[in-house]
Amino acid sequence: MQILVLTLFPEMVDAFWSHGIMRKAVEQGSITAAALNIRDFATDRHQVTDDRPYGGGSGMVMKPEPLAAAIRTARARAPAAPVILMAPQGRMFCQTVAREMAALPEIILVCGRYEGVDDRLYRDLITDELSIGDYVLTGGEVAAMAVIDAVTRLIPGVLGGADSAERDSFSNGLLEHPHYTRPPVFEGAEVPEVLLAGHHRNSERWRLAASLMRTFVNRPDLLRQRVLTDEEIDIMRSWQDDLSRLLDKAKSY
Ligand code: SAM
Repeated sequence: MQILVLTLFPEMVDAFWSHGIMRKAVEQGSITAAALNIRDFATDRHQVTDDRPYGGGSGMVMKPEPLAAAIRTARARAPAAPVILMAPQGRMFCQTVAREMAALPEIILVCGRYEGVDDRLYRDLITDELSIGDYVLTGGEVAAMAVIDAVTRLIPGVLGGADSAERDSFSNGLLEHPHYTRPPVFEGAEVPEVLLAGHHRNSERWRLAASLMRTFVNRPDLLRQRVLTDEEIDIMRSWQDDLSRLLDKAKSY
């Protein structure tokens, strides 16, 4: 996948793909990534990229001309790419959107700054808008990096284990189960016995139950949207039975 990021701070994004899994993804050719400096497309002497808003008000607005020129250059390099502006008012980014994007051959991400971009860029240059949450950042770079990170790790071959991304939270509509590694006892807290026993099927069942419980406690909304499998119903019925027994006992006192 080719990823182009349009930003006023390319060094922020360049640092991001120089480390860890992102760096590996670049080195093994799973992605090619480049940041274009929007300022390089400003034609005036001071390379100005922002201006005061028409109609008054606080803050500055990103000027359309340098950004339009930057987008056109990016499109010439990645003609099939959607031009996605990072914006709090955009479509909400989530694992499903990340999965859709991971199948694309190229993407262009535009990072806003100040109060945002001149609205006329929406006419035919910006094709999509993405938000990473209901809060306001000072610029789109952190949002773009979050998107690139989530998308890149879904590209086949980027993560080590073939199924590591499939097991992540949200991938199957549930939050992920807890993880443990050595030592078996840490500051008095023990690893669940079932995981130490080395019985694969039992470990898998424990993981599914833990995943369901975590989702039930932290994100019941995810469970409400989910079509439960027979095994999941079975596990949740066993909780129901345990609870009924507890309540019956409490009543009998
Ligand atoms: N005035 C804008 C508003 O109220 O919607 C906020 C502008 S914000 C200070 C500057 C830039 O940061 C935006 O143009 C956008 O690129 C980026 N940004 C801020 N919050 C974001 C979010 N939640 N998701 C994606 N991008 C965001």
